[in-house]
Amino acid sequence: MSDVLKILQKDELSKNDLVQLLATQGEAMQDLFHYAQNVKAQHVGNKVYFRGLIELSNRCKKNCYYCGIRSGNPNIHRYFVDEQEVLDAVKYAYEKGFGSIVLQSGERNDKDFTETIESLLKKIMKLTNNEIGITLSLGEQDEETYLRWREAGAKRYLLRIEASNRELYAKLHPQDHDFDKRLNCLKLLRKLDYQVGTGVMIGLPFQTLGDLADDLLFFKELDIDMCGMGPYIEHEETPLYQFRNLLLSKEERFLLSLKMVALLRILMKNVNIAATTAMQTLDSQGREKALRVGSNVIMPNLTPLKYRDDYLLYEDKPSQSETADETVRLLEEHIRAAGCEVAYFQHGDSQHYFSRKNKNVQ
Ligand code: SAH
Ligand code: SF4
Repeated sequence: MSDVLKILQKDELSKNDLVQLLATQGEAMQDLFHYAQNVKAQHVGNKVYFRGLIELSNRCKKNCYYCGIRSGNPNIHRYFVDEQEVLDAVKYAYEKGFGSIVLQSGERNDKDFTETIESLLKKIMKLTNNEIGITLSLGEQDEETYLRWREAGAKRYLLRIEASNRELYAKLHPQDHDFDKRLNCLKLLRKLDYQVGTGVMIGLPFQTLGDLADDLLFFKELDIDMCGMGPYIEHEETPLYQFRNLLLSKEERFLLSLKMVALLRILMKNVNIAATTAMQTLDSQGREKALRVGSNVIMPNLTPLKYRDDYLLYEDKPSQSETADETVRLLEEHIRAAGCEVAYFQHGDSQHYFSRKNKNVQ
């Protein structure tokens, strides 16, 4: 039996085991991928769930050192998608049978923003006969806001911890960005009965394999329902760009991301894991490869084309001029090639969410 299989057969994987698995190359890495593929087949099957992604606005009050739409970048045109355009995109997703949408934007906490979102959620629910599943990715908010959005129809929330190592987190953010506040937001979301998703960037400057192993253990400890993680990709107009000489090659960052997806599938068998756009940015078959080793969710971009070039979190974001119809057609081909199948007209809720709730009742 190979060394990799010996490690994988343990009941519990330690940090040291995870570091060894993250360091695998060549055949050993393929052993890891095959193992994850089997775990995926057994526990979540080959269905892929679509979430139509609408990048609502690039206005952001935060200034994360890695992100292209940070408030300190003066070179971008700031937008908020018109309400009717959002509703048109939702209608498209609904009629195509996507089952769910994701509303994402820069972070704002002002009343105008939180009320606009609340009203939008109500309109979306009405437009879709309360049928569409809504995931929000709108940053850190207070408990009241999360509650109002939950009551208005949102049932899932994505808030990446970005890096679970506090010291690394501090290197990636200005001093007024608070790790504990972000962690507390994840706890609030859980308390308010959202399906909770988090994630990290992979291949960041200063990040070690030990950090990534700790990220995986952090997801487990928090008992998350969903995960969206992908490679860090540099952006010239950000402070972190100065450390680009510390980065792994794009291929290495991609493979490391794939190993993270595979390991999370092995560690948390029934969570939803997204095959992220950033993975596709570094490898044109990136999402397909992620589906093979563990992912089961894809977020086709439904943002109206005229706004897309203003939502550049990182360089070389793909499909910037592809219409929704083209995106769906290409994705379907890639998904089939990966031996998977799109599950239309289904929410594709996190099975983990239901199993942990059942456990709590017993
Ligand atoms: N403002 C919200 C949601 C939008 S940003 C928030 O921050 O939670 C969504 C995600 O984009 C972030 O969580 C971050 O992980 C990712 N991101 C930002 N800049 C990136 C970069 N340069 N490379 C890869 N991912 C990046
Ligand atoms: Fe704003 Fe999110 Fe980008 Fe940070 S990562 S600057 S919060 S959009």
